[in-house]
Amino acid sequence: MALIVQKYGGSSVADTDSIKRVAKRIIDTKRKGNKVAVVVSAMGDTTDDLIDQALSIDGNPPEREMDMLMTAGERISMSLLAMAIHAAGDRAHSFTGQQAGFLTDARYGAAHIKAVRPDRVKQALSMGDVAIVAGFQGINEDGDPTTLGRGGSDTSAVALAVALGADICEIYTDVDGVFTADPRIVPTARRIPHIDYDSILEMASCGSKVLALRCVEYAQRFKMPLHVRSSFSHRPGTLIVPEGVDPRTLPNID
Ligand code: ADP
Ligand code: ASP
Ligand code: MG
Repeated sequence: MALIVQKYGGSSVADTDSIKRVAKRIIDTKRKGNKVAVVVSAMGDTTDDLIDQALSIDGNPPEREMDMLMTAGERISMSLLAMAIHAAGDRAHSFTGQQAGFLTDARYGAAHIKAVRPDRVKQALSMGDVAIVAGFQGINEDGDPTTLGRGGSDTSAVALAVALGADICEIYTDVDGVFTADPRIVPTARRIPHIDYDSILEMASCGSKVLALRCVEYAQRFKMPLHVRSSFSHRPGTLIVPEGVDPRTLPNID
């Protein structure tokens, strides 16, 4: 039985119909005989909207309060997704970053993960439930919520996959994988079926937002295979696999 971590970005859970669609995909993966842990981002533009609301009240809001506010976005999507899985006849358990054991330093808005102790996630998985974890967040030494920087759910997903010893981390987004250029801007851009960590690291550091920089660094360091693919299709995406690993041995790649 494979253990798969799936991350769904904000564009994949933008409204309740999308959340139901994602729930079905998660259940299908589980029913194929896999254990599935999910990391979810806030719905659509929720994080931007929360920031706008904060700035309309206080032009220079306290960092601690900003992180308290921003972590709320992922709490909404994680609980709705757990409900959608329940409504579709399966079992899921959602966890905040704190409950999932994401311990960070105290850099509000750009916290670094120091350790991941996902005991409750493991417990849910061992009971046959889907575990859903709020992306982009952790808790600092004072017990206050922190956020990992914009796009940080990608990093949460890889960190969780590493801590659980998952076989693969799937990053579901709104395009069919990593392209030679942003396919929304360059219509002739081509999907790259396989790419190495260094090349995607370079793309991420040049500002391409398809994967967060720290997520790629983390995956490379811990040799975690990644599959970037669309949650809107079943087409294969882009595989990023450590040297020496035969991609055909990885679960759920077709
Ligand atoms: P999510 O909400 O799933 O986290 P993001 O908006 O953060 O999604 O990232 C996906 C977007 O990244 C795509 O919609 C695409 O416009 C953009 N993008 C930029 N460069 C690339 C690239 N080289 N390949 C694929 N997508 C890219
Ligand atoms: N919701 C956060 C953001 O918009 C984290 C993420 O989506 O990865 O930046
Ligand atoms: Mg993103």
